[in-house]
Amino acid sequence: MPTSSECIFCKIVAGDIPCQKVYEDEHVIAFHDLYPVAPSHVLVIPKKHVSTLMDFSEADTEQMGSILRGAAQVAKKLGLDEDGFRVVNNMGEYGGQTVYHVHFHVLGGRQLTWPPG
Ligand code: C5P
Repeated sequence: MPTSSECIFCKIVAGDIPCQKVYEDEHVIAFHDLYPVAPSHVLVIPKKHVSTLMDFSEADTEQMGSILRGAAQVAKKLGLDEDGFRVVNNMGEYGGQTVYHVHFHVLGGRQLTWPPG
């Protein structure tokens, strides 16, 4: 599995940094965000190091599918599917990305507003 030695999420994937894991499959893991902005706030990340959404290649199609399937599994596991929830990817500076290992936020447990800030 290609990793980046500087990447905090790669360290979580490797088990070098602990996390509160919610879901895992062959391609992805999902864990509670350390600084939640909603009652439920989980990050779904590929095990493979990919910096941003733009860096997925055609060969990564299965991983991309696993991320969305993982997000749905997380929502089901946390009971968010009845009232609804949001899946968000922040890409790059204007998108507000701060960790450059691609991740999808699963947010729920309260009424979310639109548009985002
Ligand atoms: O989309 P963005 O890159 O801003 O999201 C990064 C997310 O990673 C933040 O929600 C932050 O709270 C979370 N984080 C974390 N554990 C860390 C570092 C960041 O859950 N050790």
